[in-house]
Amino acid sequence: MKKTYQFRIYPNKNQEVILNRTLSTCRHLYNDSLAERKRQAELNRLKKEFEVFPWGKPDWINYYDQKRELTATKTSFQKEVYSQVLQDVIKRLDRSFKNFFNGFGYPRFHGRNRYNSFTYPQSGFGLEDDKINLSKIGNIKIILHREIEEPIIPVETKTETGIDVGLSSLITMSNGGQIEPPEFLRESEDKLTQEQKRLSRKKKRSQIKNMMQNHHLAKSISDAGWNQLIGLTKSKAEYAGKVVELVNARNTSQNCSGCGNSVPKDLSVRVHSCPFCGLELDRDHNAAINILNRSISTVGTTGINARQGLLSRGSMQRDAQAL
Ligand SMILES: [Zn+2]
Repeated sequence: MKKTYQFRIYPNKNQEVILNRTLSTCRHLYNDSLAERKRQAELNRLKKEFEVFPWGKPDWINYYDQKRELTATKTSFQKEVYSQVLQDVIKRLDRSFKNFFNGFGYPRFHGRNRYNSFTYPQSGFGLEDDKINLSKIGNIKIILHREIEEPIIPVETKTETGIDVGLSSLITMSNGGQIEPPEFLRESEDKLTQEQKRLSRKKKRSQIKNMMQNHHLAKSISDAGWNQLIGLTKSKAEYAGKVVELVNARNTSQNCSGCGNSVPKDLSVRVHSCPFCGLELDRDHNAAINILNRSISTVGTTGINARQGLLSRGSMQRDAQAL
């Protein structure tokens, strides 16, 4: 669990300028990334409604895409800001989109007065005497009017496990182990089955409409379950000094964990059988290994391993095609 403390800082004139510039860079990044997502949403709408691709084939962009793009195309302003601070801006945008999909307002562009904080999420900061050291900003005078509790001592990385989760299937780990889903997920599944039955009884009215409703309903029920599972796993892990990382689920069940080739299969195919390298594995086991590999490769490319030696991590995804 996180604890929040507030302390007053006393930057000098120069530091004040840098702090304001950092805020401004973050705000621009937030607004630009939001604009990019809006543009993509519009392209997808055009595609759905008119089957036209005026500016090439649109893809849905997510947090990982935007983070990757940020790393690849930093402006000179962005280079002056600690990289994790910038990544956190993309994370904020992602969170506000998640909130939107959970029924809150659509993310808004932020004016100068409405964007007033930035975050060092894991590293790049430290306390020494009466100074707080912020990477790329400097040592700023701080009044520590109360003690800061020591965080739980992080443990060294010894094991990493990829986890594939699915509503209909079990929780499957990259070592091949499987676990029954907890009660709350099974309840979601029961509700889902009931709703599917109820809707299929009403099929006469409009076949397509019911399928749509069914799909949306199924998605919202399962999302609630996943969020609960992820939340519980994260807080458990935090107490144990471990890390849970969510990875992009795209193609993890379709790609071969042995050779990387794409082996398309629909949901009814429960065994991954690779015509290229001959690997034969349980479908979810194959996905869990891909998830593990994805997590490790993410560390290499984005600098998440700047985590000051934390790291025993688990990885988890939701199977985008579970429904
Ligand atoms: Zn293969």
